[in-house]
Amino acid sequence: MARLLQASDAMNASIAPITATDPAADVRDSHRAMLPGARVLLDAGTCLPQRFPANPCTLCVGACPLALLETDGRAPRLREQASTAADTCIGCGQCAAACPTGALHVDGFALPVDLPEEPEILIDCWRVPAAESPAGTLRVPCLGGLSSGWLLSLFDAAGERPIRLLDRGQCAECPAGEGNRNLLAAITEARLLMFGCGVDIGLIPMLVWRPCNTPLLPAIPERSAETPIARRGFFRSLFGAGARAVDEVKSPADATPVTLRTTMQPLQRLRLTSALTRIAQRHGLPVPARAMPRLSLGDCCAHGVCARVCPTGALQQVTSAGMVELRFSAARCISCSQCLRVCPERALRLDAEGGSAATEVLQRWRQNECATCGADYPNPAVTPELAVAGTCPACSKAEQLTRGVAGFLRAPVVSDVSQP
Ligand code: SF4
Ligand code: SF4
Repeated sequence: MARLLQASDAMNASIAPITATDPAADVRDSHRAMLPGARVLLDAGTCLPQRFPANPCTLCVGACPLALLETDGRAPRLREQASTAADTCIGCGQCAAACPTGALHVDGFALPVDLPEEPEILIDCWRVPAAESPAGTLRVPCLGGLSSGWLLSLFDAAGERPIRLLDRGQCAECPAGEGNRNLLAAITEARLLMFGCGVDIGLIPMLVWRPCNTPLLPAIPERSAETPIARRGFFRSLFGAGARAVDEVKSPADATPVTLRTTMQPLQRLRLTSALTRIAQRHGLPVPARAMPRLSLGDCCAHGVCARVCPTGALQQVTSAGMVELRFSAARCISCSQCLRVCPERALRLDAEGGSAATEVLQRWRQNECATCGADYPNPAVTPELAVAGTCPACSKAEQLTRGVAGFLRAPVVSDVSQP
């Protein structure tokens, strides 16, 4: 907490240039304030368009209710007018809730380790004076900054107690409110997933009408000293020691260049799928296919370029005991479609749902040694029309080219057009 607050306080916020991949960055955060004093922090090394310039992700841009974010095809930035009044970003957290990779962070949304003992979990907004919130209420900067994964994690951590979000009747007038668009979408998605897990209808999250007796605070406060936050312990208990902890945020004043992670931890995704898996197990049902993308494989040449670009490690090519496997874990997949974009054979197809929670083996090949260059390669690693027995894809292609050139040289330079 202290380190994160220090980070928010620091004023140097420029995004440093990205350097070469740094494997050590896999377990280290590099969030920096997007502008001096801005409440939204960005880890450009995990932003999809920053890693892959052709990636069209603009989810955060579309989620900002004040339209303060913009992008030129790389990582998002706060618009110019925000630089003259950094507090135009109100810290509602809706961009961070929309980001599939955890590249964005806004303070105030971590779940507490010690949840209230009340039979219902109440959630209120920071703009409501603290004295107006019932005892034991969880308070967040903005209800619109909650995601379905956040709601499911809370439901899971609270031992499946009902979640009630307090509707103070003033969201529509709040600059972050937009008629509760993001909140309603998150609640709807969480409900559908809970139904799929067999959760009783009386337990699913719902908005409850609780008008506020006193005026709301004029803006979302900078921070809430009343919200106990324990980030690392909570996330590590959920995802294991390798999980990225948001209290490892670097100071924006840190001059260390931003680094691209070899594999990122898709925090929002892992939060959702790990909670959902536990809830489904408790109810004796499989994880709803609605939450699991399905990746299908057509005519694959096994060069593994898809697995090499997958930013989350959802798609992996693994070699073991003379076999090569292409494995897919829907629980880690953020549906970024980067694997589809790079596959030269157009062999992959991604469906938004219908997959399974278990890691699937999409394809298995025998590992061969190339008769020409001696390199190991998976077989069949070449398309049938390119295949040259016993050679790797590169040597097969070279062989085909050689044959083509030889055939071309043997062909007559001038054909006899006088023949009928
Ligand atoms: S939603 Fe996340 S990954 Fe997508 S552009 Fe915004 S910061 Fe980058
Ligand atoms: S498997 Fe494909 S769609 Fe899923 S995260 Fe990896 S690259 Fe993105």
